[in-house]
Amino acid sequence: MIRIAGLTLGAAALSLSVLVAAPAPEKQKLQKVDLSEMRDGETAGIALQAALTGHLVLATLHTNDAAGAVVRLVDMGIEPFLVASSLLGVLAQRLVRRLCPVCRRAHEPDGAERALLANGNGGASHPLFTAPGCETCAFTGYQGRSGIFELLLIDDESRRLIHDRAAEADLRDHARSQGMKSLREDGMRWVKAGETSLEEVLRVSRE
Ligand SMILES: [Zn+2]
Repeated sequence: MIRIAGLTLGAAALSLSVLVAAPAPEKQKLQKVDLSEMRDGETAGIALQAALTGHLVLATLHTNDAAGAVVRLVDMGIEPFLVASSLLGVLAQRLVRRLCPVCRRAHEPDGAERALLANGNGGASHPLFTAPGCETCAFTGYQGRSGIFELLLIDDESRRLIHDRAAEADLRDHARSQGMKSLREDGMRWVKAGETSLEEVLRVSRE
């Protein structure tokens, strides 16, 4: 997983899921293969076969979330047992625009905003930030971007679920039960810190 941290996540790629597939650790001399994007079943099949034969494969797919990447692979014609035996994890990412630090302003959230902010995790109230725009941010209210992430790690139960062609929701529920934070939950961290707006996180994440 250390290698994930070394990845340069493309600024242009707003909806990527990074898949990591690797062989058993006893197969030493790990050779790394980077694939820009798996667009079809043939490329995906080659990538997963490479993983089974001693390569650490990093590849990207466009999906709504991390669990969606697993289903996408199967939809592309990859046998579920092959996905189950080669996939280590999926990191979904979105980029959110950061609020301009010069013109951002705090306000108390209203009822609807508070419910969205809590996202099922209790009703703690935080000030919300928005930015009207100023000369520094060219009147956009935003400056720069940050990533929000969702990391699905494949454990034994996930492997069984994938192997048995379980529904995407079941795979997601299992990962959530093991502590996986959704893209939206991760985004709320930035909203509460005043780094981005609630609107921005809602725009890039679906639940
Ligand atoms: Zn500004």
